[in-house]
Amino acid sequence: MQVTVIGAGVAGLCCALELAERGAAVEVLERSERLGAGCSWYAGGMLAPWCECENSGPLIAELGVEGLEWWRAHFAGTHVSGTLLVAHGRDAAELTQFARRTARFERVDGHGIAALEPELAGRFDRGLYFAGEGHLDPRAALAALAGRLDAIGVRIRYGVSVSDAMLTGRVLLDCTGLAARGELTDLRGVRGEMVLLRSHDISLSRPVRLLHPRLPVYVVPRGEGLFMVGATMIESDADGAASARSILELLSAAYALHPAFGEAQVLEIGVGVRPAFADNLPRLCRAGDTLYVNGLYRHGFLLAPPLARRAAGALLEGREFPEVMHEDSRQRRLA
Ligand SMILES: Cc1cc2nc3c(=O)[nH]c(=O)nc-3n(C[C@H](O)[C@H](O)[C@H](O)COP(=O)(O)OP(=O)(O)OC[C@H]3O[C@@H](n4cnc5c(N)ncnc54)[C@H](O)[C@@H]3O)c2cc1C
Repeated sequence: MQVTVIGAGVAGLCCALELAERGAAVEVLERSERLGAGCSWYAGGMLAPWCECENSGPLIAELGVEGLEWWRAHFAGTHVSGTLLVAHGRDAAELTQFARRTARFERVDGHGIAALEPELAGRFDRGLYFAGEGHLDPRAALAALAGRLDAIGVRIRYGVSVSDAMLTGRVLLDCTGLAARGELTDLRGVRGEMVLLRSHDISLSRPVRLLHPRLPVYVVPRGEGLFMVGATMIESDADGAASARSILELLSAAYALHPAFGEAQVLEIGVGVRPAFADNLPRLCRAGDTLYVNGLYRHGFLLAPPLARRAAGALLEGREFPEVMHEDSRQRRLA
């Protein structure tokens, strides 16, 4: 079968790879002149099936475990060193609430935190440690996927902006993220601002989330002194420049995690708009010869692989996956 994948974000690249590895003849069309022009470029790269349950449900954890395994098998830069959550003493209620809504963690005290992250010694006296979670550098992961596709003969054509109507007669997999909101009318944007810092005064081994009633933040280490600090969650389709308030809040929270971030270099301020359906769950939607893979919301790296597997199963084998294809399925109601 010949399949045209539209969009070279994480969803499109994972889908192209799954389809090609199952024997389909695949091409990828990307409207931008370069890889990573969409939301995927700005992601933190956390692969956190259990932490993400805090504001979603069991479907995300189930798919997420599959996603984490896929990345381990497909990208050597996948780290599984866990996620550490901390809160200052006055915000202990945030930890209690987070623990109620999630699973697969152990409680850690100040000694436990210091053992995991020596540079945080003495700064926090309680936290949660999700040992089985992972992280990756999204930009390196996108490049690795593109390289793998190239190696197996799948061409990515850049600078090609297409609509489904222009490609009648082909089997289409639409992975255009928020750009599909004309066809998927309940798709919306959730704006996320992030900051990329460089500091050689602190090192972290894993993503650290600082819980706070107003300014929750996470810091993801990317090696060689790079840290991604994220991310705002704003109900908006606008992808314009980050606001001063958002950057002030992100940097203040990073500073509250560790004062060394106060001296860090600001390398980049970025904005991505997460594509999300009303229930914040991902979905495969059929319309004629087109299958849409969309709604990856705040878990696109975590969920793109399981969605890609299901998209390939649906296109090549005619299989149904009610958990992501039927809006009224039990899984969706539970989530
Ligand atoms: C600040 C921030 C932090 C995040 N952190 C995480 C995280 O830690 N972990 C995680 O799992 N997820 C995270 N996410 C979510 C994740 O980034 C998204 O869910 C994911 O990137 C969505 O991927 P996508 O491929 O659907 O869309 P996109 O990455 O937007 O890709 C769509 C692509 O389609 C192309 N396109 C659009 N229209 C056309 C057209 N007509 N023709 C051809 N090409 C077209 C675009 O140029 C783009 O390249 C984060 C998001 C943000 C903003």
